[in-house]
Amino acid sequence: MDDCIFCKIINHQIPSFVIAENDNVIAFVSRQNDPLVVPKKHIKDIYELDDQTGSEIIKELNKIAKAVKKGLGCDGVYITQANEPAAGRTYSIFIFYPKWNDEAKNEVKLTEDTERQITMEKVKAAYE
Ligand SMILES: [Zn+2]
Repeated sequence: MDDCIFCKIINHQIPSFVIAENDNVIAFVSRQNDPLVVPKKHIKDIYELDDQTGSEIIKELNKIAKAVKKGLGCDGVYITQANEPAAGRTYSIFIFYPKWNDEAKNEVKLTEDTERQITMEKVKAAYE
C-alpha cells in the first residue's frame, strides 16, 4: 500500500503528531486537529476488521477518550467510524471530536502545526 497515508504515518515515513502507539494501533492528531485511532494493519473498512484487531482498537479508544476528555477539558467526546467512499472513508479510522456545550467551540477547521502540537501534548499528558 505504497500510496496509503496511514501506512506512511504508521511507518513513521511522514511527520505526524503521535499521541500513543503499540504493536497494534496508533493514535495521532489529524490535520483538523482531532485525535484519531488507526489499526496498524492496513484495514480499509469495518468489514475487514478481525476480532483481535477490533479488541485492540476498543482498548485504545477507551484510553484515548479518557485522555481527550481530561487533556482537552471538553464537555463530551463524539467518536466516528465510516465505511466506503459513499460514507467518505477508504480506511478504517476512528476519529474523536471533542465537543463543548458552547457551540462556537465545535467548529471544524484546518489548523496550524503549532495547534496540533499543543493538542498532542495535552492529550499525551493525560494518557494513562
Ligand atoms: Zn495503509
